[in-house]
Amino acid sequence: PRSRGAVRLASPDPRKAPLIDPHYLSDPQDMDALLDGLRIARRILAQAPLAAFGGQDLRLSQLRDDGGNDEAARAWIRAHAQSACQPVGTCRMGMDPLAVVDPQLRVRGIEGLRVVDASIMPTLIGGDTNAPAIMIGERAHDLIRYAPHVTLRILETVAAD
Ligand SMILES: Cc1cc2nc3c(=O)[nH]c(=O)nc-3n(C[C@H](O)[C@H](O)[C@H](O)COP(=O)(O)OP(=O)(O)OC[C@H]3O[C@@H](n4cnc5c(N)ncnc54)[C@H](O)[C@@H]3O)c2cc1C
Repeated sequence: PRSRGAVRLASPDPRKAPLIDPHYLSDPQDMDALLDGLRIARRILAQAPLAAFGGQDLRLSQLRDDGGNDEAARAWIRAHAQSACQPVGTCRMGMDPLAVVDPQLRVRGIEGLRVVDASIMPTLIGGDTNAPAIMIGERAHDLIRYAPHVTLRILETVAAD
């Protein structure tokens, strides 16, 4: 997805729930991709082996493969599309001034504090996030336990770029 949401503090009281705005479908390319997906699914279902079962489109019979009635399809997507609940990137890792943690997952500007979870991912990935989140945890273990060696490797990578 290209749309980006935001998590903001609702209050200085850390017990208060934060304000979470996923801002779904705010990037038009996400809507276009879903629309394309609908058309592809309809083409697959229309082919003989599946069409033989005689299933009927319950909601989107007006959508045409030539792009007709896009607005009805867009409204349907807005009403029914669901996310896979895999938000990331609220404590983005990076080398630039806006990054929250550095490549060793240390919070920039604060001594002795790391963030180790899916929030450090620099961008939304194209797949599920659970396994990468576990990998981030294992990597953090290496960074802490074998710090001098791993640090050296990161510096070498940055120098090579
Ligand atoms: C409904 C749903 C379905 C999903 N399905 C899949 C799937 O099929 N495949 C997949 O790969 N991924 C899936 N995911 C995503 C996956 O669960 C997450 O990417 C992964 O759990 C992220 O790990 P994390 O450690 O970053 O965060 P979490 O797993 O959210 O861990 C954060 C932990 O911090 C604790 N915590 C929060 N605040 C505090 C605090 N102030 N003090 C102490 N502890 C605190 C929480 O209780 C929690 O235990 C799904 C997510 C959801 C919500």
